[in-house]
Amino acid sequence: MSRWIDPNRPWGLTSEQAESVNNDPTIRSLVQERERLKQRLNRRTSNHTKYQDLNKKIASERERLRAALLIEIQELYEREGPVRSIERQLAGVKIDTASKVVSYFSNDTLPEQRRLIETMILAPPGATLEAERQRRNDAINAVTAYCKIEEGDMRGGRKRSGGRPKRAVIKESPSPEDEALKAAMLSVYIKDPKERPTVCFMCLGNEGAPLAVRIYSFSSPGDLTKHFKKKHLKKVEEGGAPECKICSIPLDHKMHLQNHALRIHGTIS
Ligand SMILES: [Zn+2]
Ligand SMILES: [Zn+2]
Repeated sequence: MSRWIDPNRPWGLTSEQAESVNNDPTIRSLVQERERLKQRLNRRTSNHTKYQDLNKKIASERERLRAALLIEIQELYEREGPVRSIERQLAGVKIDTASKVVSYFSNDTLPEQRRLIETMILAPPGATLEAERQRRNDAINAVTAYCKIEEGDMRGGRKRSGGRPKRAVIKESPSPEDEALKAAMLSVYIKDPKERPTVCFMCLGNEGAPLAVRIYSFSSPGDLTKHFKKKHLKKVEEGGAPECKICSIPLDHKMHLQNHALRIHGTIS
């Protein structure tokens, strides 16, 4: 699970962001220069070298600014974006840039990856509670499908030559363990802000732990709170840098962890 891709990371500029470089002073003055030249040439610009040069210059300056802007946006996202964006997304706030995003998909996007992205980011929030529940279930199923790819061998073989056998890529029917994990996973993504699960989302994401520990259900949300404070919050206080592995989000500040625990997983601390 820790190897999930982060589908929320900005991979491309939205059309608005791409347009915004036109407001850059350098671009503006180049465009003005080109306009003046165009008037001087009486609009017979097609073969004029200086005009062509200006065109090239404007295009490459735009490219440069866009590349810099994307890096800036990605850095900002890495610094502070993940918690906010996944929280907003899970809270079902309408993502109005969805239709304008230019490059979430590339030619080698796997179908499961595409499904993951579509259900996790691009799906609009449901109009009713039932529709919203369906949207979340779709997202979780997409994650489960994607995880199977990550864990299995994509190149069709059951085993890698010489290596240990890998888990089957797609299973005919889910094993009881998978079912239990999935049920636990569903339970830690709250559908209502007042919902209080009894499974620890941090332990659930710990792939190295035995299944029984991961899906352990505390007898009350209060007991989970005690465990959460003692086991997970304390580590951050002591300088550890944990992450929510099921959401794939680093939570290196106490407030981040607490905020994420409460808003996404209904865990009070
Ligand atoms: Zn725990
Ligand atoms: Zn989480």
